[in-house]
Amino acid sequence: MTASRLQLSSAVSRLGTESAFEVVNRVLALEKQGQNIVKLHIGAPDFRTPEFIVEAGRKALADGFHGYTPAKGLPQVREVVADYCKRFHGGDVHPDQVVIVPGGKPTMFYAMLLFGEPGAEIIHPNPGFPIYESAIRWTGATPVPLELKEERGFAFSADELLSKITPKTRLIIVNSPANPTGGVTPKVEMDKLVAGLEKHPHVAIMSDEIYSRLLYDGGQHVSILSYPSIADRAILLDGWSKTYAMTGWRMGFGVWPRQLVDHAERIQINCNSCTNAAAQIAGMEALRGPQDAVDAMRRAFESRRKVIVEELNKIPGFRCVMPKGAFYAFPNTSGTGIPSRELERKLLVEAKVSCLSGTSFGALGEGYLRFSYANSEEQIREGLRRVRECLATVVR
Ligand code: PLP
Repeated sequence: MTASRLQLSSAVSRLGTESAFEVVNRVLALEKQGQNIVKLHIGAPDFRTPEFIVEAGRKALADGFHGYTPAKGLPQVREVVADYCKRFHGGDVHPDQVVIVPGGKPTMFYAMLLFGEPGAEIIHPNPGFPIYESAIRWTGATPVPLELKEERGFAFSADELLSKITPKTRLIIVNSPANPTGGVTPKVEMDKLVAGLEKHPHVAIMSDEIYSRLLYDGGQHVSILSYPSIADRAILLDGWSKTYAMTGWRMGFGVWPRQLVDHAERIQINCNSCTNAAAQIAGMEALRGPQDAVDAMRRAFESRRKVIVEELNKIPGFRCVMPKGAFYAFPNTSGTGIPSRELERKLLVEAKVSCLSGTSFGALGEGYLRFSYANSEEQIREGLRRVRECLATVVR
């Protein structure tokens, strides 16, 4: 047999990853050896999907939702999404602008494909969700990091963002509440950003609002859809994963400006055809059904948030600001003197606690770790007790 000599595209070598999935595998391997790991790396709610949603999915299968749907999604589902956007994002959305996709990620990838190519610049948060930078690089565009700073509670600064715009900028990405920091950008900054974009009509904006229902201390979500002045170039990314504990269902949606929606639909036809039909029906019921389960999950996260931040601040070499949204705490660990990736590995192997290095979210995450509080209060306390013990002899 002749040994193969395959020639992969250069784009493949530029594709990054989400190292959370690697940590998942490492944790599984340790558990298989009989080790007890406290899991604080997970980016998924630890709750089950509410029963009425599961039942709607079951019924949809029994009722024969087995085939393709229109590429953008079933019309009745898109109508409910448009109505949801009015209620929760304050935006006037027509169902034709909605594209139902398999999870939050496709909207992000489609936006990069629409705007990214060599010579183009795309501004993205750093530390930020790692797939932004990965997808930008894959298209050949240049990723331009916007640093999110601890002293601002990891909210972005509109002035800093606007100062990074050049004639080559095609797209900017914002994410509030944010992964991995839990930072929430206040309305004044969003107002300033939108006003500043008036001067840059060549720039589109994608707002990742997948954590928009997870805000604390009475915070109100500010959606990109509530700004009519940029409605012709604003893309909303949202989905069911985090809000309804539906990460495995693979359900998300994008709201696209009219001038972009046909392109998004065409990409969907090229790579997914459509989103799972029965899951769409379950998703529709989730949006129009009772929202008490969402509120209950939010309340649980809010009380765990206080516990995790309090416990993190007791660890030698750690200091942690109070996150205002999502379910992540992002302590500064530079006081330990241990580089983030090394610290992530040390805590997994020695303390049997899984978390993620800040550098999993970009180079500017060095000196930080991400802890998810999508786990019980007991597990959070136990995990951070182990971390404290593990570092007590190393850090003074
Ligand atoms: N956007 C952000 C900021 C996220 O944190 C995630 C998942 O962790 C996603 C998008 C992707 O969501 P999904 O799992 O629905 O694709």
